[in-house]
Amino acid sequence: MAVNVFTYTSGLVLLALLVVSVTCRPTLEDTHQGVGISSPEKANVAQARSDSVQPKVPDRPVFILGDVEIPLHRNAIRNKSMHWKDGIVPFVVDNDYPDTARATILAGLHEIEADVESQGTKCIQFIPRTTEQNYLRIKRGTGCHSPIGFDPGEDGAVVSTLGPGCEIKGIVMHEILHVLGFYHEQNRPDRDLYVDINETNVAVIRDFYIRNETIIDTMGIPYDFLSIMHYGAYNSAQVKRYAVITPKPKYGRTLRLGQRVGLSPTDVIKVQTLYNCPLDTSHIHSDMDERVIERCDFALGMCNFTTDNTAANYAAKWVVQTEPTSDGPVAGYTNGLDAFLFASLKDEEAFSSIASKEVSSQATVLSTENLTTLKNEINLKQATTTRTPQTTTVYSPLLTSGEDGMVCVQYVIYQKGPSSFLQLFLSGPLLQRQELRNYKPLSHDYWARDEVRIDLGRQAEFRLEFVANLQEGSVAIDDYYVVKGECIYSS
Ligand SMILES: [Zn+2]
Repeated sequence: MAVNVFTYTSGLVLLALLVVSVTCRPTLEDTHQGVGISSPEKANVAQARSDSVQPKVPDRPVFILGDVEIPLHRNAIRNKSMHWKDGIVPFVVDNDYPDTARATILAGLHEIEADVESQGTKCIQFIPRTTEQNYLRIKRGTGCHSPIGFDPGEDGAVVSTLGPGCEIKGIVMHEILHVLGFYHEQNRPDRDLYVDINETNVAVIRDFYIRNETIIDTMGIPYDFLSIMHYGAYNSAQVKRYAVITPKPKYGRTLRLGQRVGLSPTDVIKVQTLYNCPLDTSHIHSDMDERVIERCDFALGMCNFTTDNTAANYAAKWVVQTEPTSDGPVAGYTNGLDAFLFASLKDEEAFSSIASKEVSSQATVLSTENLTTLKNEINLKQATTTRTPQTTTVYSPLLTSGEDGMVCVQYVIYQKGPSSFLQLFLSGPLLQRQELRNYKPLSHDYWARDEVRIDLGRQAEFRLEFVANLQEGSVAIDDYYVVKGECIYSS
């Protein structure tokens, strides 16, 4: 859809009409099992999609490790026969992909090739297949899954499945690294030194099996939280409200897990080491660095956002929340431990502060009787004063698009409703304020990703406003990015 949103102000009549178009993704939930997030009620569906869509070929037994297929009677990465000879990968991409998806897949292959190049010499080469007996076939099936390493079927093809929703460059690169011989980072033998796994909340326990040294060769390369092969905190969670994989606290609360932007320097070193290429990370290309207009993961505060919290007698406000909430997120999305931007009603905050005193305070003596009285007071106040929705807004600073005016806004939201909801507005000096998103019908007790593509038509200044409408419950935001051009799959 394309909507005119600019108004003219006096003195600006000579400005060309600028057109903003916004492209909506049909749904909020992610499409890559093992990378993204999906709703709890769909967890079983997602699991089935990832675990059972691969046809079970009787003479070629496989079981699925998340998006990975592992032959039962072979080793993987340590087994040299499962590396691609001389790093040469003949490939075909099936004909039934739309042109844009094909272009994304080719871009993913090209980026891996460019990133792992050593001193001007190719380390991995993807070449269009001509007559080669063995080759990589990229197939448009269902879900995203790949074998580990060079593992051809009877027809000579190593099949990597990239179904609808998997044609995102970072996901393509993740899958192709499986094909080159790499497991998920959290399957390394030493992973328990670096991350905690909440096993009781794991939907597919096999995703978190540690692979011992006879299978995984870590090549002496340190554990890499930033690897494109690392899961995000909430991947494979049975109850999506709670994280499954979190960094040991000593590694800090600002780590990002599960990025799908591009290869990390360590990913590059791993490929170069496995394929006996000289190590060279001097030329790694990062889309993120070049294209980010603004980002905030709220680990260290509100970044450049401002709020209307200072309005007199406000009943609702946005805060950077570092502790679990009683009626909203338990932790941020970035790594399952971190802070996030949280909007709640003042009364509820007062209530939860009493509740937390009740649970945790050793020093403050708050008798049961006093507590009950306080709770009753608050309940009474809530009953009489908070039935009308309260709104509170958080504003980005004035931002400037790239020359072509293409912008992507992406973030994860958490919405405990249904009577609390979130809106996103676009505004600016020459823009008529326009609603980009209204999450009113949604109520979900977990983080969900969304992205909004904006076409300003040409370089322009703009501002984003997140408006929380609160009646009961809360809303929250985390991992906010504004990038030039197309969306980047950040985590
Ligand atoms: Zn994977």
